Amino acid sequence: MIMSSTEFFRNLPPKECAKCGDNIEEMADCYNHECEDCEAEIH
Ligand SMILES: [Zn+2]
Repeated sequence: MIMSSTEFFRNLPPKECAKCGDNIEEMADCYNHECEDCEAEIH
């Protein structure tokens, strides 16, 4: 069965920030591994 990308990401577990461990809900379909706060520190 072929799932749409929306359906696929909905079934993924919540992503966690690699630095602080916070859930990254709005960036679940993004390649970032840090939340917005930690990424702001990097840049
Ligand atoms: Zn973080």
